[in-house]
Formats: sequence, C-alpha cells, structure tokens
Amino acid sequence: MIAELFRKVLGRGRNVTKPKRIIHSVKSHHIRREDISSCALRVTESLQKAGFEAFVVGGAVRDLLIGRAPKDFDVATNATPDQVKKVIRRSRIIGRRFQIVHALCNDEVVEVSTFRALQAAPEDDQAADEHGRLIRDNVFGSQEEDALRRDFTVNALFYDPNKEEVWDYFDGLGDIRAKRLRMIGEPAQRYREDPVRMLRAVRFAAKLGFTIDKAARKPILELADLLSNVPSARLFDEMLKLLLSGHSVECLRQLRAEGLHHGLLPLLDVVLDEPDGARFVELALTNTDRRIAEDKPISPGFLFATLLWHQVRLGAARIESKGELPTPALYQAMDEVLDAQKEKLAIPRRFDAVMKEIWSMQPRFLQRAGQRPYRLLEHPRFRAAFDFFVLRAASGEVEEDIARWWEDFQIAEDTERELMLVVEDKPKRKRRRGPRRKKPASTDDAAYSEKLSSEITHRKGDHDE
Ligand code: ATP
Ligand code: MG
Repeated sequence: MIAELFRKVLGRGRNVTKPKRIIHSVKSHHIRREDISSCALRVTESLQKAGFEAFVVGGAVRDLLIGRAPKDFDVATNATPDQVKKVIRRSRIIGRRFQIVHALCNDEVVEVSTFRALQAAPEDDQAADEHGRLIRDNVFGSQEEDALRRDFTVNALFYDPNKEEVWDYFDGLGDIRAKRLRMIGEPAQRYREDPVRMLRAVRFAAKLGFTIDKAARKPILELADLLSNVPSARLFDEMLKLLLSGHSVECLRQLRAEGLHHGLLPLLDVVLDEPDGARFVELALTNTDRRIAEDKPISPGFLFATLLWHQVRLGAARIESKGELPTPALYQAMDEVLDAQKEKLAIPRRFDAVMKEIWSMQPRFLQRAGQRPYRLLEHPRFRAAFDFFVLRAASGEVEEDIARWWEDFQIAEDTERELMLVVEDKPKRKRRRGPRRKKPASTDDAAYSEKLSSEITHRKGDHDE
C-alpha cells in the first residue's frame, strides 16, 4: 500500500527512492535543546508526556543546522488537532480545510500540525486541477508520509528536543552540508502539484546561499508558465516573502536567471526588463535587505511604491506630453499603474493609499519656498516620502543637493530654517490691458499638487503599513 503511495506521490523519475530513515544523534547534527524556543520546547514536551510523537520541523531545523536563528518554530505531531487542543491549554484550532493548532505562550505562537498524508495523484481528478496542481491536501498520515509531502529534503527534517535527535528520511542533512536544494520526489511532478515550489526554490537558494540541484532546476524553465494558474493572493504572499527575505536582490537575480519573472508577475517584467528603472529598484531593494539585516521594520507599501515608480513616471511623462499639467498627469498615471497591477499580482487595495501618498508627495519636495516646506514636514507620511525622495536622488533622478537640503531642513532651528528657504522667482508682470491673467501654470500646479496629496491622506479608507 505504502509502496503504491510513494509511486503516486513521488512519480517514477530516477530521483525517486523509497525513504530510508536515518536518526542522527547530537554528535552529528550539533543542535542543542537550548536552541529551541521555550514555547516549542513546552509544546513538544507536553505532547510527548501525553503519549504522542512531537517534533520541531521544517525551516527551524534547517536554519539551526546551518547555524542561523530560526524565524519561528513549527511542530509536527501524530496527535489530531482536537487532541493537541486538549493537551495544550492555551491553544486554538485554526483553519477549516486542514486544521492546525496555534499554541500560545507569552508573545510567541507555535504552529502545531498533525502529520499529513498526501493524496497526490493526478489520476485522482478531484485532488488536482487539469494541470496536476493539488487542490486537496488534507488527510492525516504517518510521519513518513508527512516527510514525503514536503518540498525539499532540507525542509523535511524532524528534531526531537527531548532526545536531541534529528530524524531524516531523504538525507537532508547531507544536502545541508553540500549546500544543495534537492526536491523530494520527481521535480516536474512536484512543481505541477504546486507551481509555487519553483519560487520557493529560488527564494531558499538565494536566502541560504544553496544551489538548486540539477534535477530540480531543469524543469523550471519549461514549467514556469504554470505559475499563472496559481491564485493571485497566494502569488502575492510568496512575492512578499521573496522581497522580505533579506536577500531580495539575489532573489530577483535568480528569478530572472531561471526565467521565472516573465508573464506571471507583471511587476517584475517591468522592473527587471527596464534598465532605466533598474538602478532605482536595485537601490530600493538593497536598502530593504540592509534594513532587514539590521532588524528594522519594512513597509510593504513603501516597497511596492518603489517597484512601480518607474512605471508611474513613464505614464506621467506620456500624459504630460499630450498637454496635461504635471499634477493631474501624475495622478492619472498612478491610477493606471495600480489598476494594471490588480489583475495578476493582486497587490491588495489596502496598500494603494500609502503608495499614492508617497508618490503624490514627491513633487512637493521640489517646493522649497514660503510655507510649503513646513507643511510638508508636518505630513504624517513625511518620513516615508522623504526616504523615497532620497532613493530617487541616489539613483540620479533628482538632484542630491535637494535631498541634502531636506535632510538639513528637518534638523535645523527655526531661524536657520527661515534662512534656508528658497526665494521664489516672482513671475515678471507685464503690463496688459484687459482682465487679470491667471497665475502661471507652474505655481498653480504646485498648489494643486499640495491640495490633492493632502486629500489622499485625509480621505477615508484603509491606511495600511
Ligand atoms: P521560512 O524560513 O521561509 O519560513 P520554511 O521552510 O519554514 O521557510 P514555510 O513556508 O514556513 O517554510 O513552511 C514550513 C514547512 O512546510 C517547509 O519547511 C516545508 O517542509 C513545508 N512546506 C511549505 N510549503 C510547502 C509546499 N508548497 N510544498 C511542500 N512543502 C511545503
Ligand atoms: Mg517557516
């Protein structure tokens, strides 16, 4: 029975072997109980005391073996969600389709999932869509089956904190030592089941500095188009993980190298295929990676604003060239770009407000006369808009002197600030008969820009990140 399952799950490729479990003692893996968070320790201990099996799994074990601090801890067990709930007092069951349990300790949450079997079978037409993508994955199983349904060998390691043992079904430890990402089973079939695994391969390779093993790499180019069948919300989540991995520059480089940036993510098409915009985006991503390394917060809204900025600029220039004033042109372009993104990448609407705010404030940094700079300083989104302006200056899009001026203006005393203000060129008045002329368009446009950008801020709606 189980042999049949392996065949179904893993396919028939050369790469397929029946799992052979190896149990590594602390001598060969060096993970110590103390490396595990107190919450994960408490959860595994309670479950084991109640007679169940319980292991720390997935990314945490992998990261500890590489010598990195895990982001979070997941636990896998043979207890059902209801049984887990009974054993762990402070916990709640999450999800409907496949239930998991969140165990809560102080400010930490540990995700506890029951060993899951994989009913993978493209023959089972209810479990997969017409491309072989799994839509059902919700049956409890043994630990062996649970290992089998995971993606890469390095992600399928189980750590028992009590015995300080690592249980390894696919020589994941060997792959960690060789810095290699090897797919469990037949790669093409595993990508068909879940095309997001291609993006995960790139993300892990970039983040861990691993190479994607030849067999796992080969089918990617051919199967890249399958990503277009993945629901856009899931793609968005994965995209965000990529960008916030702390290695976004490397991730995007590899996405391009694997041919994964085409078609599926319009955002990346534009960003990676336009050399003009590339410098700005590269600076923005380098900046993001650095902030993550320094443990500073990142605003996804800001990040998306940087990725789409080049498109907004191009759009605004096009509209202006047809005779529109700069401000309305900018606003039209912002809307066009955001609408175009909605279709595939589905950047959720809640990010629109912050992106628009940042973009619409940009022209206001060029206004350094009168009361305008003071009003801009007071804007609740000043910091983000200023950081954005600094990136534009660093990429050569606007004068660095102006960015420096704002840097100084922020910290200057009142009297100093007054001296810093730029004297506005008064438009020369010509004597004319007849009715008074309107103010020159540029002054009008500056006022209009200020008015519209503060309207965005005060408009009711979601203001996220
Ligand atoms: P990260 O450091 O990004 O959290 P991770 O390996 O913990 O890395 P998660 O997305 O948190 O990744 O998933 C936890 C575990 O679940 C993985 O290690 C892997 O074993 C399994 N897993 C997650 N997504 C998939 C998938 N699409 N296909 C197969 N297994 C998966
Ligand atoms: Mg994880």
